[in-house]
Amino acid sequence: MNESRDTRAPADVDRKALWVVRELGLPAVVKACVSCRSTRHHPTGKFRVNASGKLLDVWMLICCELCGRTSKIPVHERVHVRSLDHERLLMFEDNAPAMVRALATDTALAGKAGHRLDWNGTWDLETDSPFHDLERGASVEVVVRFELPVPVRVEKLLTTGLGLSRSAVADLVDSGRVRLPLAVGARAREDFTFVVLAPPDHPDETVR
Ligand SMILES: [Zn+2]
Repeated sequence: MNESRDTRAPADVDRKALWVVRELGLPAVVKACVSCRSTRHHPTGKFRVNASGKLLDVWMLICCELCGRTSKIPVHERVHVRSLDHERLLMFEDNAPAMVRALATDTALAGKAGHRLDWNGTWDLETDSPFHDLERGASVEVVVRFELPVPVRVEKLLTTGLGLSRSAVADLVDSGRVRLPLAVGARAREDFTFVVLAPPDHPDETVR
């Protein structure tokens, strides 16, 4: 469809930029509250560890946003005490904030425990915005760094970071000026790097 696709090697970047997906908060845990109509919960910051002989149960405690009722998310169920890493057990016993944070953003745990994570309002994108390099005609390598593993559509990062409409971003990707390591419609949740190439040097190479 696009016959003037940019095929230059992205080797020569003039500048580097850093975009940071900043953490504003942890996602809400979405599951029905047994006491009220709310479905939104937040971690209390505590774990409960229960030993029965050599078997351990570990739960993360969460509380309802509306009525405050505490409920439990199973983290380990009936595991043998020797199969649980000692450092990990200490973190549960100490209510380590790093462990709370890791499990509160763990989509695999959410899937296993049958709840959903609501990431709305948990992040924003910090850039040296607006992205002037497009007008300056510079090639830029952009490192996108995630402070929390929030799944964000790549297109959303680009429209926000470049300050462009979805169609303008689609044009840049289709023309090959934006080189992405993953699809523009994919959701990223870890650091990645992409390149924005300068407009072609020679006006006679493209139809304007
Ligand atoms: Zn409730």
